[in-house]
Amino acid sequence: MANPCKAYPIDPGLIPVFDRSGKANLGQVLENSSCIGTAPLVFEIEPLFRSEQHLDMNEQSRTSNRVAQRVLSRREALQLTGSIAATMIVSRHMLAVETSRKVVVWSEGTANVDPASKKVYPEDINTAIAEGLAPLKSENWQIIKASLNDPEQGLADDLLKSTRVLIWWGHKKHGEVKNELVDKIEKRVKEEGMGFIGTHSAHFSKALKKLLGTPCSWREYVDDGSSAEIIVKEPNHPICKGVSNFKLPGIERYGEPFKVPPPESVPLEGIYTKPGGTNENARMGLCWTVGKGKVFYFTPGHETYNDYYRPEVRRIFVNAVKWASS
Ligand code: ZN
Repeated sequence: MANPCKAYPIDPGLIPVFDRSGKANLGQVLENSSCIGTAPLVFEIEPLFRSEQHLDMNEQSRTSNRVAQRVLSRREALQLTGSIAATMIVSRHMLAVETSRKVVVWSEGTANVDPASKKVYPEDINTAIAEGLAPLKSENWQIIKASLNDPEQGLADDLLKSTRVLIWWGHKKHGEVKNELVDKIEKRVKEEGMGFIGTHSAHFSKALKKLLGTPCSWREYVDDGSSAEIIVKEPNHPICKGVSNFKLPGIERYGEPFKVPPPESVPLEGIYTKPGGTNENARMGLCWTVGKGKVFYFTPGHETYNDYYRPEVRRIFVNAVKWASS
């Protein structure tokens, strides 16, 4: 009987063939190779075929069949293991590529230059908003900053085509944005479902006006020391998830009416408190579906206030990106 400490091939019918081969007992190696699916398996088994040449045809045939079945089985297992491993690697790679979603935060590059705001946003507003989106990284989002000052105004075709959600902050340079780029943004939203988020003075951006098809003007714009409380109007709306009412100690007041199409939802409203103590309400977060894409507008975000560093505002943007991409 075979020494149990030795590791012959598992199939007892192969033992005499194996012994006649004069090869070292590498069964252990074979099994280990089989287990870990490494190349030595095939390398070690092939000599078995060569050692069978002295057997009569029938025995050789029978044995070869068994060996062949054995080898085939192991080869199949190897191939299967290799295929599975390769598939897993490819799948993981494809999964990462397919599920990686891109949000681009665009700004015009003025808030970090203007004396009144550069201390608040020394790296521009796109940086502050992008930093606030960091929680999205764990959900396979890629967060990219873009600026009017970048080549192709920050949105080269390849980038725009692969963007799931575009966040836009502009104030003084709306007119410098090329109409051709605006057309491309409109197409991406309406025809291809890219999400678009405009905030504060981006109400007058060419892109938002083109998407909504209205003047997008407010009645007045007053930076007079007003404060505001942001009210969660639709607590079950995805944009309000984890957000409670909160106060902004300073805000540039945008007075209603806001000339936009009727929104499909207004998850956030606001109550301004003017310096004299009187109150005025206005919409703070508005949602539309434009063609195949979703559009969100968020009122706060004047460049001299630190709104984009506030945890509530950051939560709203994280939620809005997910909503706009859904
Ligand atoms: Zn402003």
